[in-house]
Amino acid sequence: MSSRFRFPHVQMPPEATALRKEVREFLAEEIANGGFVPMADCWASAMSAEFSRKVGQRGWLGMTWDKKYGGHGRTFLERYVVTEEMLAAGAPVMAHWVADRQSGPQLIKNAKPEIRDAIIPRIVSGDCFCAIGMSEPNTGSDLASVATKAEKVEGGWKVNGTKLWSTGAHGCDYMITLLRTSPLDTSARHQGLSQFIIDLKAPGVDIRGIADIGGQVHFNETNFEDVFVPDDYVLGEVGGGWNMVVGELALERSGPERFLSTFIVLQEAMRLLVNNPTEQTKEVLGQVVAKIKTLRRMSLGIAGLLQEGASPEMEAALVKDMSTNFERELLEKLRKVLPQNILATSEGLLPGLLRDGILRVPSSTLRGGTNEVLKGMIARQLGMR
Ligand SMILES: Cc1cc2nc3c(=O)[nH]c(=O)nc-3n(C[C@H](O)[C@H](O)[C@H](O)COP(=O)(O)OP(=O)(O)OC[C@H]3O[C@@H](n4cnc5c(N)ncnc54)[C@H](O)[C@@H]3O)c2cc1C
Repeated sequence: MSSRFRFPHVQMPPEATALRKEVREFLAEEIANGGFVPMADCWASAMSAEFSRKVGQRGWLGMTWDKKYGGHGRTFLERYVVTEEMLAAGAPVMAHWVADRQSGPQLIKNAKPEIRDAIIPRIVSGDCFCAIGMSEPNTGSDLASVATKAEKVEGGWKVNGTKLWSTGAHGCDYMITLLRTSPLDTSARHQGLSQFIIDLKAPGVDIRGIADIGGQVHFNETNFEDVFVPDDYVLGEVGGGWNMVVGELALERSGPERFLSTFIVLQEAMRLLVNNPTEQTKEVLGQVVAKIKTLRRMSLGIAGLLQEGASPEMEAALVKDMSTNFERELLEKLRKVLPQNILATSEGLLPGLLRDGILRVPSSTLRGGTNEVLKGMIARQLGMR
């Protein structure tokens, strides 16, 4: 075997407890004031620029980024506390989620200094949002088959093609976009790819929302027709896009959103189920709580590795695979112990949360890399293929 997984045991620092209290108070206040109604899968379905600005004002965006770039220089564990509290409350965090999780770190590492300095402080204040432009109509799991291309022109690049499924692009300022900058060489498929920061308001960009099975528009098809992107908006080296994307996927897959998307459903269900629980109810709740604790322990280990400066792609793949399977299992188990007619009622938050959760959970094993693909990566890492 080539390497083992690392899941270091991580202790929350004392300052995290005070921070958690602060975040909980903020969220309770927002709910009480009608600032938001809790939603399942909130990080990919509940978009509110106003809420994101409030989060930015609190100092909870760009938390781990260096102060010299406009970040807050706090730890990954403190950021973890904020993200898990937001998810547990079903808060409308979608607008800032991608920029805070992966685009910001990418820009800090690879953008030209003047572009970085123009964008990063706006992400931190909750005034600038980013989308991911990796998938295409004929490109998903096999990301190296990207066909949307950028051709060199005077002073920049001309982009043509289509990106698909970009979450939140309709409300974003920029798309961090993987493009082909040299023709595909089938013997070196990962070469000739570059990452660009594309201004989504630029002429030639056309964003069309796609409704999901529940009728909600949260992801998009984005067409680029002769879109001019200045040279300064290339990330890192031309041709170096593949390694950047791999690093970004570790951030995309490693967070608590992979097992807490449906936590709000469990929380609401528990309010109902804890009164006179049957033996089956006790068993189900015991099982799901034990699993959440295990996944949290593993996911916190990844936050610890990120804090050390590691890029834990394999650990992230394993936790994402286990977590997204758990989210499905959780809803199936809850349905068995909740009253039969719960979905037909409209009293309280639970029926709506459960309905949304059931409709959206199948997508969790697809987005960010399918579970089959993740298993393939894990097998390769273990030297099994
Ligand atoms: C809700 C949602 C949000 C998304 N948001 C974004 C976004 O913001 N930006 C973005 O770029 N993309 C986004 N995506 C796209 C997502 O990354 C792709 O759907 C995913 O990578 C799978 O690609 P695909 O849909 O083309 O399926 P395919 O790659 O065509 O896969 C079809 C099936 O074949 C299996 N398969 C494929 N290759 C292998 C293999 N090598 N071994 C075993 N099985 C395999 C897959 O597991 C899957 O079951 C989103 C998707 C969803 C559902």
